[in-house]
Amino acid sequence: MTRDKEKKAAKARLYYQKNKEKIKLYLKNNKEQIAAGGKKYRSKPGVKARRKKQHRAYYLANKDKAKLYYQNNKEKITAHKRVWREANKKQEATQQKVYKKANKGKIAAQRRAYNLANQDKANLYRQANKKKIAARAKAWAKANKKSIAKTRRGYREANKDKIAGKAKAHYGANKEKYSRRSRVWRKNYPERVKFHCQKRRARKKNIIHAFTVKEWKQKLKDTFGVCPVCDTYKGINKLSLDHIFPISKAKPGRVYTIKDIQAICKSCNSSKGAKIETENQINQSLASQQQTKLELAEKKPGGIET
Ligand SMILES: [Zn+2]
Repeated sequence: MTRDKEKKAAKARLYYQKNKEKIKLYLKNNKEQIAAGGKKYRSKPGVKARRKKQHRAYYLANKDKAKLYYQNNKEKITAHKRVWREANKKQEATQQKVYKKANKGKIAAQRRAYNLANQDKANLYRQANKKKIAARAKAWAKANKKSIAKTRRGYREANKDKIAGKAKAHYGANKEKYSRRSRVWRKNYPERVKFHCQKRRARKKNIIHAFTVKEWKQKLKDTFGVCPVCDTYKGINKLSLDHIFPISKAKPGRVYTIKDIQAICKSCNSSKGAKIETENQINQSLASQQQTKLELAEKKPGGIET
């Protein structure tokens, strides 16, 4: 303190000593007014910032003292905080929101540092609470199904190239494994192979196969091995898929359901070629096509592909 200030302080002290009772009475009688004045003064932007800075500096200079005080008064402080929080719930929530938004990077870095420093602790906790954690994760996933799906969809859409690249690289690195697996699969499921070939061919011609392997297998079974065109027993394995309305005459986007498909023998299939037998057959097929489209539209608006 400078000499001037010292003098002033001494004078004030003296004045206070002399007029103690008077001052106390004044303070007592004007409590609210004084508090309001103080509050108003402290809320001035300049004052607020200055006081904050002062507090910070004082805290930094007296950290140990503050820590000690905290340790000695823990319960009192937490109780006080609890009361304040209860009374200022909304304010605290907004404050936290603002803080979180403004300090995203800082918070993430802090969390990362904490996690890194406490890995062992985390591992221990994880090991001790495996079931609890799994149950919680499961419950969370169940409760957030839609948002998870949305997030994943968004990720897939935003990272199409990355995902495709990864898949390609993975395939390249595991080519043999995949081709071996594919060979085994093709050997075990010949009908499925045929089905998928048909489907690919159909897609190439821009027509739509709206039926499943299961439906096609049932269709084959229903023939008992008899070709429905020449009415001859050939065996189920000798019958193949035929589009009743020929693909070569079909307009792009034509839908073939299981009703538009038959299982016939090879010789009938090749002799039929791209010929349409009768006018009647065309009309029948067209009618069934209309019916099919209507049914599909009713069943599943917007989607007809299997
Ligand atoms: Zn036949």
